[in-house]
Amino acid sequence: MNFTNGIALDGPAGAGKSTIAKIIAKRLGLPYLDTGAMYRAMALCALSEGVSLTDAEKVDELLNRTDIRVLYEADGQHMLINGTDVTGRLREEEIGKGASLISKLRCVRDKLAGMQRQIAHETHAVLDGREIGTFVIPETPYKFFVTATAEERAMRRVRQLEEKGEKPDYELILKDIIARDYQDSHRDYAPLKQAEDAVLIDTTHMTIDEAVETVLQALEAR
Ligand code: C5P
Repeated sequence: MNFTNGIALDGPAGAGKSTIAKIIAKRLGLPYLDTGAMYRAMALCALSEGVSLTDAEKVDELLNRTDIRVLYEADGQHMLINGTDVTGRLREEEIGKGASLISKLRCVRDKLAGMQRQIAHETHAVLDGREIGTFVIPETPYKFFVTATAEERAMRRVRQLEEKGEKPDYELILKDIIARDYQDSHRDYAPLKQAEDAVLIDTTHMTIDEAVETVLQALEAR
């Protein structure tokens, strides 16, 4: 199979799309690009420079003087900001919230989407994000929208945190997920949205293996 313009997996946080995208990429021998990590790295950069995540002018200035790089190591994707590897900090809750805020800015989206488009065209990668199929690589015929109910996604996050020895509050996590979904799907520019020609994968009652098989079968059928 030839995935010239890349493969797009979009959907809300916690639907399982990054796990699915990583397995698909491995099975097809293609790179995997976590686009959320790029927004997270930019949020971390702004926070550590004391730049407000909602100040378009200051963030634009920051973008112009910042070297953002995606690097592939044996253990996967790394994010470098001005030569410093920031990968280890990107999954922090505050950084996720910051990414959701900074990703509303057009200057940030244009810069990161441009980098993502180039990677997709050069490497035929599997990209996971929010608007990959509608905005970053709308030309690819390989598009999926991976979703699950907010309640199921909150339960998954609770289990993940419990496995790490934490004592998460389900109601609080559910509230955060609903707020993040709203923010991502209601921003003016390139919001979270299912592309008209995307295959819908609802993982609420699916295992990861079942979802992976569904995606692989759909890819073969295209
Ligand atoms: O997927 P992840 O949780 O790492 O993404 C963090 C935030 O970055 C999301 O809530 C979303 O606001 C933003 N994002 C985006 N477009 C993408 C990927 C992530 O706006 N393609």
